[in-house]
Amino acid sequence: METQCNFIGGEWVGASTAQPNINPSDTSDIVGHYAQGGTEDVNRAISAAREALPTWSRATPQERCDILDRAGALILERKNELGRLLSREEGKTLAEGIGEAARAGQIFKYYAGEALRLSGELLRSTRPAIDVEIRREPVGVVALITPWNFPLAIPAWKAAPALAFGNTVVLKPAELVPASAHALTSILAEAGMPRGVFNLLMGPGHTLGDALVKSAEVDAVSFTGSVSTGRAIAATRAASGRRVQCEMGGKNPMVVLDDADIDVAVNSCLNGAFFSTGQRCTASSRLIVTAGIYDRFVELLVERMLALRVGHALDVATEIGPVVDERQLKQDLSYIDLARKEGARIVGGDRPKLATDGYYLTPTLFLETDPEMRINQEEIFGPIASVIRADDDDQALMFANAVPFGLSAGVCTTSLGRARRFRDELQAGMVMINLPTAGVDYHVPFGGTKESSFGPREQGSHAREFYTVTKTSYVA
Ligand code: NAD
Repeated sequence: METQCNFIGGEWVGASTAQPNINPSDTSDIVGHYAQGGTEDVNRAISAAREALPTWSRATPQERCDILDRAGALILERKNELGRLLSREEGKTLAEGIGEAARAGQIFKYYAGEALRLSGELLRSTRPAIDVEIRREPVGVVALITPWNFPLAIPAWKAAPALAFGNTVVLKPAELVPASAHALTSILAEAGMPRGVFNLLMGPGHTLGDALVKSAEVDAVSFTGSVSTGRAIAATRAASGRRVQCEMGGKNPMVVLDDADIDVAVNSCLNGAFFSTGQRCTASSRLIVTAGIYDRFVELLVERMLALRVGHALDVATEIGPVVDERQLKQDLSYIDLARKEGARIVGGDRPKLATDGYYLTPTLFLETDPEMRINQEEIFGPIASVIRADDDDQALMFANAVPFGLSAGVCTTSLGRARRFRDELQAGMVMINLPTAGVDYHVPFGGTKESSFGPREQGSHAREFYTVTKTSYVA
């Protein structure tokens, strides 16, 4: 099988080592072999991006718009094949994979428009006969370090605004998902991205990612991934006073109040907790349910959860694919053990025997849990959620906020007054009312509070806060 190369300065570049990419639904299926770059490649990629910067940053908004628009159109045209590749390498269902590919296409089209809409301000000075112009300029060379759970959408929602606003890019995707990043890179090249404007570096985070983060030639780092990696990156960048943005983990509460529509609540919790195999930073991992609806809700939720079909991601009947790899599976199983030790009652949590050898785990609920248990404080990142019983609205709100994370939160209620109260008092960057905590739009701000996020919001027009610098000029 031919090794897929890195993309540096407009050339496909090989490496001395390569790594197989394994399908988590069927470990005998090798998706491809991908080059593992080294620190030399990091330096070459940064130099290529730096060299391309003057021309790209001065390109007209129309030139940037046209290339991004073409890239978006190509992604949309190929969404089925890209979605299939994504499901094969990451394990989300085919419908979810195609949905993610389509979203990546829409993101490029959206930011094609944003390239034209980037605006400034003109004010009169406090002094006579002087105008003050406030404009936004590109930051420079931007490194994008991305996780494995949205292999196309996350690179897209970082790369598209970075490019639209005139920056040049080095993308370092997660080790587990090089294929989607490689496919995206090919499409950007085909769309006419000038050489050096977009570079791809596949390989280990602790060498390539670390070298990008430490480089004085990288003007900004946008990272999405775990809290531990994100914190270390933020600290390194802050120590040298360089721009950084980190989107990290969550332990997102979904509150179900006594007056909730039970079908809306169960559907929201099923989707939020288990779809995408629970491997979403916005997954509903703590279901906080008030006493008046608790028994009915748990009974229906368990019945619906046990009926979810676990299977090969490419089988159209599958509702829950495998977890991403053996390491993640071990982590999920260790939290199931911990739940048992902490005194929870466990429903599900089995390793089903299927036709192919994959990292399968049936959806799992931890019942009869307390908010302070470790299973309710730490991000697990699998098809697992716990249920916490609350006496009333006040206690539910207190439990919801009793974690160090603050990414997404939800409430199910039929009362407008209660919905408003929870919207105002839930400590989270995104609040969902009668909707799963996962499932966000791309044209509005995305990000969290507390330990979930560091730096300005991603997505929508707010992305310009990170990908541009403000220049104020005085004109007499
Ligand atoms: P991770 O932190 O292990 O890796 C993320 C990226 O960082 C990868 O590309 C990896 O190679 C790189 N990396 C690893 N070590 C590095 C280092 N020392 N220096 C620089 N880069 C390094 O995260 P993951 O396991 O890929 O992703 C899962 C995590 O991502 C979960 O915690 C999840 O909540 C989080 N996530 C957050 C969001 C969000 O927007 N808040 C979205 C998706 C996923």
